[in-house]
Amino acid sequence: MTDCIFCKMISGEMTPDVVLETDQVLAFRDINPQAPTHVLVIPKRHITSINDLQAADAELVGQLYLAAQQVARQEGIDEDGYRTVMNCGEKAGQSVFHIHLHVLGGRAMQWPPG
Ligand code: 5GP
Ligand code: ZN
Repeated sequence: MTDCIFCKMISGEMTPDVVLETDQVLAFRDINPQAPTHVLVIPKRHITSINDLQAADAELVGQLYLAAQQVARQEGIDEDGYRTVMNCGEKAGQSVFHIHLHVLGGRAMQWPPG
């Protein structure tokens, strides 16, 4: 996807502040952080939204969560708690259409979300 900013981060065309990289996923700091720790975990393969996931992607989705767990540990927010969010569609607040798991922590979170 040449017009996808997250694909550009994977290709090296853009250079995010990377905190973790595996063969399948990349994790980098959000440019507009909503918490002291705000990291985005993305698959290296372009998938537009949760609606586009296939059964064969189940392992990859698991890798996103395992990466989130590792990021939380690295950032020192695993014990206090953190939130993982994946928005799907515009009404839910999705603005970049390459799936990404937000990892937010370092402050108290409200529930329900707005
Ligand atoms: P969404 O709104 O789709 O759930 O989340 C997209 C996230 O991507 C937002 O939190 C936004 O701040 C972040 N973002 C958008 N453009 C960039 C960018 O160029 N670099 C980084 N690091 N984050 C971005
Ligand atoms: Zn993409």
